[in-house]
Amino acid sequence: MFYQQAFDVIVVGGGHAGTEAALAAARMGVRTLLLTHNVETIGQMSCNPAIGGIGKGHLVKEIDALGGAMGLATDHGGIQFRTLNSSKGPAVRATRAQADRSLYKQAIRNIVENQPNLTLFQQSVDDLIVENDQVTGVVTQMGLKFHAKTVVLTVGTFLGGTIHIGMQNYRGGRAGDPPAIALADRLRALPFRVDRLKTGTPARLDARSLDFSVMQEQPGDSPAPVVSFMGNRDMHPRQISCYITHTNEKTHEIIRGGLDRSPMYSGIIEGVGPRYCPSIEDKIMRFADKDSHQIFVEPEGLNSIEVYPNGISTSLPFDVQMELVRSIKGFENAHIVRPGYAIEYDYFDPRDLKQTLETKYIDNLYFAGQINGTTGYEEAGAQGLVAGANAALRVQEREPLILRRDQAYIGVLIDDLATMGTKEPYRMFTSRAEYRLLLREDNADMRLTKLGREIGLVDDARWAAFNRKMELVEAEQERLRGQFIHPEHEAAAALNDMLKNPVSREHSLEELIRRPEMTYQQLMSIDCLGPGVADPIAAQQVEIQIKYAGYIARQLDEIAKAQRHENTLLPSDLDYSRISGLSNEVIAKLSDARPETIGKASRISGVTPAAISLLLVYMKKHG
Ligand code: FAD
Repeated sequence: MFYQQAFDVIVVGGGHAGTEAALAAARMGVRTLLLTHNVETIGQMSCNPAIGGIGKGHLVKEIDALGGAMGLATDHGGIQFRTLNSSKGPAVRATRAQADRSLYKQAIRNIVENQPNLTLFQQSVDDLIVENDQVTGVVTQMGLKFHAKTVVLTVGTFLGGTIHIGMQNYRGGRAGDPPAIALADRLRALPFRVDRLKTGTPARLDARSLDFSVMQEQPGDSPAPVVSFMGNRDMHPRQISCYITHTNEKTHEIIRGGLDRSPMYSGIIEGVGPRYCPSIEDKIMRFADKDSHQIFVEPEGLNSIEVYPNGISTSLPFDVQMELVRSIKGFENAHIVRPGYAIEYDYFDPRDLKQTLETKYIDNLYFAGQINGTTGYEEAGAQGLVAGANAALRVQEREPLILRRDQAYIGVLIDDLATMGTKEPYRMFTSRAEYRLLLREDNADMRLTKLGREIGLVDDARWAAFNRKMELVEAEQERLRGQFIHPEHEAAAALNDMLKNPVSREHSLEELIRRPEMTYQQLMSIDCLGPGVADPIAAQQVEIQIKYAGYIARQLDEIAKAQRHENTLLPSDLDYSRISGLSNEVIAKLSDARPETIGKASRISGVTPAAISLLLVYMKKHG
C-alpha cells in the first residue's frame, strides 16, 4: 500500500544526523518526512550526555551557523559548560557542554515539531524502492510504501546491530532499541562496500550509591559559555558540577583477570573500535605502563539519579563490571543501573559517496552519520545537515552544497571520508584541519551563515542577528583603525601603566591592541577610549581579528598557493624516497596512496603542508 502523500525528501532515522537532515531540508522549503523507529527517541543521545569538545565543538558551531538545531538544543539542555583550551589560541579553543539527556532530547523534539514542511512518522524502514539505479521511496515494516524524490539514510548503529556483554550477545540497535536487520540485508545486496565497526559505553551508576566527597569537583566555567550564535545564558537550566576519580592497580588487575571472558579479547567482536574513545580493557592493554586512568563522573540530568562514568566504557561480563566499578575510589558501594556494553554494526565505506553525501551507485540516495564510519553526535549532525541540504537542492534542481576544507570542519570531515575512507570510527580533531587558524569556533558564522542564507538554511531572525553583529564589528574596527594616541594624549598615562614600552609616537588603537600584553577590554577600560562594543561576542571578534591578522593573512596565502597547485599532476611512478627532507612516514604514505595530484597528496592524513612544499620544490626541478 502506498501512503497517499508523496514527499520530496524522506529522512530515515531520528538521531543526530537524521534530525539535522530533516530540519535542513524542511528549512529549505521542500516537503520532508522524518521516518523513524520511535518518535520518543528523536534526538536521543546513545552514549555520553555531552556535546562539543575539541574539534567537535567546532562542528557544532558550524551546524549552528547554518541554522541547525544542535547548538540551541545544547543551550537549552546544558547543565555544565566549559571552554576547553581557554589559555591557548582561539583556533583550538572549544566549547563543551554536559547535557541533561532528557532536556536535550526535549529541545530537539520541540524544534522538530515546530518546523514547517516537516512531517513525522513512526515505523521501521525495512526496504528501499530502487528503480533503474535510482531510489524512489522506502517500504516500512508493515509494508507501507512512501514515495520521495530523494532519501537520506541516517540509521546510526542499528544496521545488523549486535550488543555484547561478556560472552552474551543479542541483536539490538542500542540498549533498549531494536536493530535494523531487514534493511541491513537489503543494503548488503546493493553494490556498496560494507564492513563492521564497534563502539561501547560504560555502566550507568546510581548517584545515591556514590561518595562524591572523595572525588575532585569540577564546576563549569563562570560565566558559562553560550553555544549557539542565537543562544544566551538565560536559556541555560540550573548548572551543576561534574567530578573526577581514577582507576587504580586493583581495577586493572580485575580487568586483566576478566579478559578471557571479554568479547573483544576472545575474538567474538570483529569490528574495529574507536581509537580515541577506547574501552577500559583496551586502555589497560594498550597502555600497560599506566597505573591509573582518569574517570569523569558526569550527571545524566538534573532530575536523574543516573551518573555516566566517562572513561570506563566496557563490554566485560557483568560480574567483572560490578567488581571493577567497586574498586574505584568513591564507587565502593556503587549500584549499577544499566550495564555497560559494546555494539557491533554495519557501516559503509564512505569512499562510495560523492562529496554531497549522495551514494555513487544509487542516485538520489544519501548517507549520513554513523553509517559512514564516523563516531559522535557532532560528526553525525554535521553530515546530516549537508545530506539533507543536498537532497533538497537536488529536488530544487540547484547546485549542490560542498564545503571546502579551508571553509569548514564539515568540509574537512566529508572530504576525509569521501577521499580516504576510514577503517576505524572517525572522530573530528582540530589536527585534521590544515587551516586551523581560519576554522575557529568564534568565526563559524562569518564563514558559513551567508552561504546558509543563500541556499535557504538560515531564517530571517538568524540573518538579522548576524548582520547586526557584523555591522558592530566592522564599525568598531574602523574606529580603532582611525583613532590615534600620541605621547601627549590624555589617555597616554593610563595606557603607559598597561604597556611594556610606553607610547613614544603616534599609534592607532588597532596597533595598540596588537601588542601581546594589551587586550581590547583593557584598552576600552580607559575613559576617553571606551567603552567600545558592549556585546561580548562582537568584542571578542574585534580583538581576535586584530591580534591574529598577520597569521590569518599567511594562512590565506597558503590556501591561495594550495589552490594554484591543486591540479598539479604527480607522476604515477614518482620515487618519493628520492625527495630529500620527507619523513619516512610521509614517504610510506605517498608511496602507498600514489596520489594523482598535489591536491590529493595534501589531503592524505599525516602529509603536512611542509611535505607539500618539498614536493612542489622537487616537481619544479624535475617535473
Ligand atoms: P543514531 O543516533 O544511532 O540514530 C539512528 C536513528 O535511526 C535512531 O533514531 C533509530 O531509531 C533510527 N533507525 C535505525 N534504523 C531504522 C530503521 N530501519 N527505520 C527507521 N528508523 C531507524 N560516540 C562517541 O563519540 N563516543 C563514544 O564513545 C560513543 N559510544 C557509543 C556507544 C554506544 C553503545 C552507542 C550505541 C553509540 C556510541 N556513540 C559514541 C555513538 C553516537 O551515539 C553516535 O555517533 C551518534 O548517535 C550517531 O548519530 P546517528 O544520527 O548517525 O545515529
